[in-house]
Amino acid sequence: MKPSTRAWVAADKAHCWHPFTRQDQWCDGDPLVLVEGDGVWLTDSEGRRYIDGNASIWTNIHGHRHPVINEAIVRQLEQVAHTSYLGFANPRASELAGRLCGLFPSGELSRVFFSDDGSTAVECAIKMEIQFRMQTGAPERTEFLAFDQCYHGDTMGAASLGGVSSFFERFRQFGFPVHHLQGIEGLEALDEAQIARTAAVVIEPLVQGVNQIHVWPNGMLRQLREWCDRHGVHLILDEVMTGFGRTGSMFACQQEEVIPDFLCCAKGITGGYMPLAATLTREAIYEAFLGGAERAFYYGHSYTANPLGCAAALASLDVFEQEQTLAQLPEKVRLLGDLLTEMQQRCSNIHAVRQCGMVAGVELRQASGEPFPYTRRVGANICEAAREHGLLTRPVLDTVVLMPPLCIDSEEIKQMCLALEAGISDTL
Ligand code: PLP
Repeated sequence: MKPSTRAWVAADKAHCWHPFTRQDQWCDGDPLVLVEGDGVWLTDSEGRRYIDGNASIWTNIHGHRHPVINEAIVRQLEQVAHTSYLGFANPRASELAGRLCGLFPSGELSRVFFSDDGSTAVECAIKMEIQFRMQTGAPERTEFLAFDQCYHGDTMGAASLGGVSSFFERFRQFGFPVHHLQGIEGLEALDEAQIARTAAVVIEPLVQGVNQIHVWPNGMLRQLREWCDRHGVHLILDEVMTGFGRTGSMFACQQEEVIPDFLCCAKGITGGYMPLAATLTREAIYEAFLGGAERAFYYGHSYTANPLGCAAALASLDVFEQEQTLAQLPEKVRLLGDLLTEMQQRCSNIHAVRQCGMVAGVELRQASGEPFPYTRRVGANICEAAREHGLLTRPVLDTVVLMPPLCIDSEEIKQMCLALEAGISDTL
């Protein structure tokens, strides 16, 4: 190990605390220290290269160190890194808000509230929803519907929606009322009184990420929109993972021609370069916050609409156009699907392949079809083994997630799949 790596690892173990991490296990081994990126590749502090198979926690779109995004950030840095959005406008935020609304040509999402990450984009939608109901004569609508095993972030509001017990159960008593549905059929079991108390339904459209890449049935989102319209319930779409091309269209909801009442996005909004988020909503909702100090939305963060983040987001949208990113996806999606299907035919431990655009989950089970005992950490061990073959990714339980930057080319898709298969063979 190089002396610099040793020093970074030692400092990490002495002082750092990582997200969603069992620190006792973390400190048993030596973490990989990532120092550089280039396209879909990441390099560690020892000089080894890996495909960024989960797009740096589902954020990266056009690859690392893309000249257009880098230059846009540097250009903005030469003007100013940050200015307050409380009481002031900034050029990049103004431009970006217009571009984001323009991604919905029907004009129905016309207002943008910026924040910092996926959790705050959702947090903001929830608070807007609650206050909207109070200010429009429906204060009894205080409850939310969400889906089993959903994940919407970790701030208290977003966590209250969360459907993964091991993450959220201990915090439930501090949150607000949320009813979790198994699927769209669950709506039928709701009685009128409960529906009348419901403010909004929150869903990850087309596919749930943290729920081991659970793909919703075709048409489900449209049905949900129609149900919401029938019952005066708002639809909040969490496009934090699915937004910006990940499922094959700019936003997942566009595949079912659904316009939500709130659309939350983050992660890929800057191409994966800077923390930034946006909550988009309709003019009629915005207007409920006008007409007096007591009606204003008292919410915000110091770095709201950070100009560097907005500059990166504008550049990322430019790259979408320049490189025709969306037009190139169908072929990549097909190749990824074909390779994973072939891999499943060769490997008796692959129980299922689930895919939605460039989001894929490969679920490992025993050859009998039984899940592996939790303590075997099969998913984690496979990802660790795949590193030796030049792939970085993470599992959700025993489902290995593949969600590379959208710029990945066909050769790299093949390399990524080969590395995963090698990791499976080494482990099982
Ligand atoms: N919503 C969804 C669907 C997510 O996948 C995530 C993160 O993985 C979040 C919200 C939270 O985003 P962040 O980690 O940026 O707060």
